[in-house]
Amino acid sequence: MDQWYARIAVIVASIALIAIRAPHGQRSRAVPTKTNAKGALENTLLALAMIAFCLPLVWVVSLWPVAANYPLAPAAYWSGVIVLVASLWLFARSHADLGTNWSITLEVREAHQLVTSGVYRTLRHPMYTALLLYSLGFALVLPNWVAGPAYLVSMLLLVGFRLRPEEDLMRAEFGAEYDDYARRSKRLIPGVW
Ligand code: SAH
Repeated sequence: MDQWYARIAVIVASIALIAIRAPHGQRSRAVPTKTNAKGALENTLLALAMIAFCLPLVWVVSLWPVAANYPLAPAAYWSGVIVLVASLWLFARSHADLGTNWSITLEVREAHQLVTSGVYRTLRHPMYTALLLYSLGFALVLPNWVAGPAYLVSMLLLVGFRLRPEEDLMRAEFGAEYDDYARRSKRLIPGVW
């Protein structure tokens, strides 16, 4: 399959992700922060994720790193496209449900509300599920051993290290209300975990 298919999928998906986040990000940032639990590890993981998000875009314009390119298989590509579409849908739903309580890092905002409805009824971290799916989609559509899985690796690290501190932060803020919510919801995979 021609590599232009991969380039187009990467460009369209990246623009869609940014376009979905932009208005929510702007609205959320206007609300002052009450508590910030961001440490050195979180800063490093965020920086890694930003770099890993840019690598596929570098690949689109330069096919770099060239030595890591491999032929694009239609089955991998089209499964990746389906995964990307599903992830963007879930990403948009989570942003809509979380509203101005969203933050790119570990923060509690003024008048922070615990969201337990919409996609948050089933999952406590639907946005992380969406981003993991999105990065898996990139690994499938982008035929390069470095630029393809880079974002998936960085998201696995970010989510892996962040879930517990984020749940601790929510528990410190909402106490029994969060414990109750945690009992009736799953973390990342509906009905499983
Ligand atoms: N982990 C969630 C939210 C990601 S945004 C998800 O994957 O969908 C990260 C910020 O969201 C955290 O700093 C926390 O303040 C906030 N947050 C996480 N879960 C929340 C919830 N159920 N209700 C309100 N805010 C939440």
